[in-house]
Amino acid sequence: MNLRNYHALLLDMDGVLYRGHERMPGVAELFDFCAKNGIMTACITNNATMTPEQFSQKLAGMDITYPAANIINSPIGTRLWLESQAPQGTKIFCIGMNGLRTALFADGYYVESAEAPAYVIVGLDTEMTYAKLRQACLLINAGARFIGTNPDVSLPVAEGLVPGCGALLAFLQAATGVAPFIIGKPGATMFHIAIKLLGADATRTLTIGDRLDTDVAGSLAAGLTSGLVLTGVATTADVATSDIKPDVVYADLPALVAAWQHDLA
Ligand SMILES: [Mg+2]
Repeated sequence: MNLRNYHALLLDMDGVLYRGHERMPGVAELFDFCAKNGIMTACITNNATMTPEQFSQKLAGMDITYPAANIINSPIGTRLWLESQAPQGTKIFCIGMNGLRTALFADGYYVESAEAPAYVIVGLDTEMTYAKLRQACLLINAGARFIGTNPDVSLPVAEGLVPGCGALLAFLQAATGVAPFIIGKPGATMFHIAIKLLGADATRTLTIGDRLDTDVAGSLAAGLTSGLVLTGVATTADVATSDIKPDVVYADLPALVAAWQHDLA
């Protein structure tokens, strides 16, 4: 693995840049290194609980200056993907929270409608009701294309694991027999969107994540060079036993920077 010709880096956030509210070692050094060497960066996360502006503020709170425009969460990924598929004015039925609704509808580009929409788009909705699921089911059966923002079946809260977007998608899939097209990792779509956003060459793009089943699987699905750091979910033992094999493993971000520096010297 030689990083000399790589010019773009796509980073997962939780488990890579920070864990909870704790900044990981080497984050500031990594962004400095990229800036000095003309390496473009974007952050990709399935986490839809915050807007890119809020993620940027979270990083600022850890003394990391990072532009919201380079942060793609699953609602932003959904919007950017939709723009490549559906013209302005397309009708959409949406189940989801503020982040998704804002990304789709705040600028008036798409129209929220339950009257023969072209798409049913489903994100996590903590105020889910049978009435919303019923409506979505009828519209998918009537031919609206079924889209999910991310496949995470559960998400961690203080008390344990609770239903995530993927659990709502599974409910609708069971009811309709239709599988959703999913935007978030481990799908390739968010990676393709980030590469397009940066104007990067896919053959010169490295991805860094902490999970095999989402970050590494998604990167490989997108045909990119997949790097894993061991500062989050996946361990060395997981790498040894999993069928999902990253192209390169680094202990942490300082190890990545050291390897890249070595290849550029
Ligand atoms: Mg992560």
